Amino acid sequence: MAPVDSNDPYMPIREAIRALFKDFPDEYFRKVDEERGYPVAFVDALARNGWLAALVPEQYGGAGLGLAEASVIMEEINRNGGNAGACHGQMYNMGTLLRHGSEEQKQRYLPGIASGELRLQSMAVTEPTTGTDTTQLKTTAVRKGDRYVVNGQKVWISRVLHTDLMILLARTTPVNEVAKRSEGLSIFIVDVREAIGNGMTVRPIANMVNHETNELFFENLEIPAENLIGQEGRGFKYILDGLNAERTLIAAECIGDGYWFVDRAAAYAGERMVFGRPIGKNQGVQFPISQAYMNVRAADLMRFRACELFDAHQPCGAEANMAKHLAATASWEAANACMQTFGGFGFASEYDIERKFRETRLYQVAPISTNLVLSYIGEHVLGMPRSF
Ligand SMILES: Cc1cc2nc3c(=O)[nH]c(=O)nc-3n(C[C@H](O)[C@H](O)[C@H](O)COP(=O)(O)OP(=O)(O)OC[C@H]3O[C@@H](n4cnc5c(N)ncnc54)[C@H](O)[C@@H]3O)c2cc1C
Repeated sequence: MAPVDSNDPYMPIREAIRALFKDFPDEYFRKVDEERGYPVAFVDALARNGWLAALVPEQYGGAGLGLAEASVIMEEINRNGGNAGACHGQMYNMGTLLRHGSEEQKQRYLPGIASGELRLQSMAVTEPTTGTDTTQLKTTAVRKGDRYVVNGQKVWISRVLHTDLMILLARTTPVNEVAKRSEGLSIFIVDVREAIGNGMTVRPIANMVNHETNELFFENLEIPAENLIGQEGRGFKYILDGLNAERTLIAAECIGDGYWFVDRAAAYAGERMVFGRPIGKNQGVQFPISQAYMNVRAADLMRFRACELFDAHQPCGAEANMAKHLAATASWEAANACMQTFGGFGFASEYDIERKFRETRLYQVAPISTNLVLSYIGEHVLGMPRSF
C-alpha cells in the first residue's frame, strides 16, 4: 500500500478494518454492484463489531471515539475496495441527535444505535424544486396538538429502505414570518417503519452508482411532537453542525478511494508489459500517479485538521469544507490517473476500477457540490461578496 504516516496513531483501527475485509473481497462488492444490491452482510459485520457506533458516547453503549477515529474507519472501508456510502449516515446523522437531542431522546435511541439494533442511516434535506438553496425548502411541519403534520417532498434521500430512523428538515414557520430565511426550520426524528404507508411514500431513484437513494412524498405524515430535536425553528443551525462532520467523513472516504486508485495504478504500472517493458517506466504513465498520491496526502492532512477542530468543539466549517473539496478533487484525479493507467482493462468490471470511478465521481456533487464549497470559502473565509 502507498505509504501514509510512519507514525500513524490510528494503525490499530486500520488493521482491524483490514482484517474484517478478509471476508469481503473485491468480488463481494463487485457482485453487490452488479446486482444493484445493498451490502447487507458487510454493514451487519461493521455494526456487530461496533464500528458504526464509534461516535456514540460510552454511557450509551458506544465506543466514545472522536471524529478522527470515525474518519479513519470510513477511509479504510473505501481504501480496501468497499463503499462507505452504504453506511456512513449511521456515523454522522447520530451526531445531530447527540449534540442537540434531549436526554430522553438520547436514552431512547442511542443505546439501540450503539448495539446495531436501530439504524439511523438517513437524513432528508434536499428537495426537487429548491436544491442547494436549502432555506427555501417547501416541506412543512405544522403543529397540531401533540403532533406535527408533514406535507411536501424530498429527493435523493439515501438509505431510506435500509434504516429504521430518519432525520427530517422541514419548515415550521412560513418564510415570510421569519427575520432570516435560515430561521423557522426544524428537525425531527421520523420512525421510517411507521411512516412508510402512513403518510410517507418512498420511490427509489435508479442512478449511476449503486447507491440506494429515493424520492420521498409526504401527505399528512404525523410525527409525535416529542420527536422534535432541540428547539423549534433552530433546525437549520443544527443541520449545519452535522454537515461539518458529514463533510469531513466524506473527505476521508475520498482519501480512501484516492489511495486505493494510487495503489492499484502503481501496482499495475509495475506489472503491465508493453513494448517489452513495464508501462510504469514511462514518465507519462508514472507522473500522473505520483501527482495523484501527493494530492491525496495533502487532502489527508486537511482532513485531520478538520477532525482536530471538530473534536475540540471549535469552529471547523472552513476546514471541513476544504477537506471535502480537496479530497474529492484528489480522488477524482486519482481515479482518472488509474483509469488511464489500466487502459482498456480499466473499463472491465472485473478490475473494479470502473466501479470505484463511478463511486468517487459522486463526491463532486454530493453532499455539497464543488461550486458551493468555493463560494463558501470566497464569502466566509476570504470576505468576498456573497455570490447568491
Ligand atoms: C447519490 C446521491 C445521494 C444523495 N443523498 C442525499 C441524502 O441522503 N440526503 C439529502 O438531503 N440529499 C442527498 N443528496 C442531494 C445532494 O446533497 C444534492 O444533489 C446536492 O447538494 C446538489 O443539489 P442539487 O442536486 O439540487 O443541485 P442544484 O442545486 O440544482 O445545482 C445544480 C448545479 O448548479 C450549481 N449551482 C447551483 N447554485 C449555484 C450558485 N449559486 N453558484 C454556483 N453554482 C451553483 C451546483 O453547484 C450544481 O453543480 C444526494 C445526491 C445524490 C446524487
